[in-house]
Amino acid sequence: MQVFKFGGASVKSSENIKNVVSIIEKYKNSELLVVVSAIGKTTDKLAKITDSYVKKTSDAFALLEDLKNEHFQVLNELFEDKSNPIFDDIANTFVEIEWILEEEPQDDYDYLFDQIVSIGELLSTKIIAGYGQYRSLPIKWVDARDYILTDNTHREANVDWVKTEEKIRKELPSVLDEHIIVTQGYIGSTSENFTTTLGREGSDYSAAIFAASLNAENITIWKDVPGVLNADPKWFDQTELIPELSYTDAIELTYYGATVIHPKTIKPLQNKKITLNVRSFLNPDAPGTQIKTTNQTLPVPSFIFKVNQVFINIQPRDFSFIVEDNLSSIFNAFHKNRIKINMMHNSAISFSVSVDDTGENVWTLLEQLEKRYKVSVATGLELITIRYYNQETIDRVLVNKEIIRELKDSYTCQMLVKNKDE
Ligand code: ASP
Ligand code: MG
Repeated sequence: MQVFKFGGASVKSSENIKNVVSIIEKYKNSELLVVVSAIGKTTDKLAKITDSYVKKTSDAFALLEDLKNEHFQVLNELFEDKSNPIFDDIANTFVEIEWILEEEPQDDYDYLFDQIVSIGELLSTKIIAGYGQYRSLPIKWVDARDYILTDNTHREANVDWVKTEEKIRKELPSVLDEHIIVTQGYIGSTSENFTTTLGREGSDYSAAIFAASLNAENITIWKDVPGVLNADPKWFDQTELIPELSYTDAIELTYYGATVIHPKTIKPLQNKKITLNVRSFLNPDAPGTQIKTTNQTLPVPSFIFKVNQVFINIQPRDFSFIVEDNLSSIFNAFHKNRIKINMMHNSAISFSVSVDDTGENVWTLLEQLEKRYKVSVATGLELITIRYYNQETIDRVLVNKEIIRELKDSYTCQMLVKNKDE
């Protein structure tokens, strides 16, 4: 059997949804489970609705109305027959959000976030399943929350692999004998049946969980790029497609910030030796990239650019060394504020990192660190990572840049830089 994953961009309009359903149609005679993300930017919009509701900063109902209109526009374009039950189903799904918004917010923020934001994936999968059935495909809509079982770390839930695999293996193979399954990425549920989410962009990970549990032959992530490229075309004009990639290189690239695949996706597939294809939904006959067991290293150097970096240098006020107790208190502060470290370096009396400038939580972190440490900060920086670097590639990215910190090992070079004229 195989698993497909379609992200938000692939289903952002009625035209794109038709394209996705045509791709599914080509594989209708094989055993197939399809994981889908929320439509377009729905997750961001639902996150904003949650924020407006809890902090009362803007009108959550008005924002919800816009999102509803967007979804109904898609429905109207897909279904000529307005008596199709999908119209009621989608309206009722939106009512679930309205019920939450009508109450005063009392629960924990992260819990509320998951209850509201998870609805994006319920909506998109209902629409795609409904439209596939309308086109006479043997599709069955499955609620991922019955299978992806997690702890209660809301917004970043940890999967209970034993229970999840057991449930998937017991129930889904017989469904796959008769049907193509359409289910949600990104969401799961706790043992008390509360909805959780797996961390932003987590649908790839969901697809990997289903694939690993079902011992799939392969999994395909359908994207708007031709496959894994050696750099993000957003930052680089000459990019090359990498036809074949080892699991290890793929893990390293995503760890350093290549956004083509969610970093948690690859390990479970590597454990089961399941090939991961990254292909273009715009050009579905092209082979794209295959990630699998191979001794081949990357054929070309790969570049990862992260802009908006904050450099934080931390020194104990008492000039104690940067050893275990200082490091553990520093890491704890990062963890509590949900800040991920993109690059780190320590010397005897200082520890420095580069993190994404995510605003408020970075400033809270700095205030907390300042109680015990002397902290200096620089903003507006860029972090460049080159896998399989050489001097020529380094020179190429350093034009008009000044290096603030550089780390190298045999395969990877990371440079934190700023523009020379600043
Ligand atoms: N819809 C979720 C998000 O945007 C999950 C995903 O797209 O993978 O974060
Ligand atoms: Mg998305």
